[in-house]
Amino acid sequence: MKKSLLGIYNKLYGRFGAQDWWPGDSAFEVIVGAILTQNTAWANVEKAIYNLKKHKLLSSEKLSRTKPSKIADLIRPSGYYNIKTCRLLNFINYLNTEYGGDLKRMFKQKADALRKRLLGIKGIGPETADSILLYAGDKPVFVVDAYTKRIFSRYGLLSEGASYDEIQRLFLHNLPKSVKLYNEYHALIVRAGKDWCRKNPKCSLCSLQKGCRYAKTLIKNTSKDIEKAEIAIAN
Ligand code: SF4
Repeated sequence: MKKSLLGIYNKLYGRFGAQDWWPGDSAFEVIVGAILTQNTAWANVEKAIYNLKKHKLLSSEKLSRTKPSKIADLIRPSGYYNIKTCRLLNFINYLNTEYGGDLKRMFKQKADALRKRLLGIKGIGPETADSILLYAGDKPVFVVDAYTKRIFSRYGLLSEGASYDEIQRLFLHNLPKSVKLYNEYHALIVRAGKDWCRKNPKCSLCSLQKGCRYAKTLIKNTSKDIEKAEIAIAN
């Protein structure tokens, strides 16, 4: 398993190179991005963050003094803007109450303890909490998303019904504990999912095709279809 996971990483890195994640000028911006990116494309999050920056509101202090309706208006491009406003404010409220608004103090905690606390905030699920820990807090935590599940189950290393925690354990137990590696690996998975492993996968373009169970089945079925068609023509 270790060999397979590192082999996949090397193939993806060899094809795409460094992804320079997560885009953001500060840890707070990364956290805002992690909350706003739920159920939407990153391009929409960029517009919302641009609006917050334009109004000089991209800080926990300023956002906590801003009317929720105004925040909702500014983050509207990211979709579900009322819900996301509540989620942002829930996080900011937690940060202010527990750590006096100081992210450095928050990130002084051990990853496991902080993860539990982040998951206790309404609207912060495992993927968002882990993105915050890894990309804003430099904690060695592996982020799992829908692309991770799809690629690794199609490849044959995961069952389709694997839970978030099971998938995360697979990576944590089989990769060296490294913030740099986890950061790059997740970003590469997202890139591979967007470019190749879509709902209708583009296996012929994918660098993982050689070892992938799904691609092998696809090739086998296609050859059978061709064979059948040739027999039909001959008859
Ligand atoms: S070969 Fe196809 S199914 Fe396998 S990971 Fe690549 S795109 Fe996905």
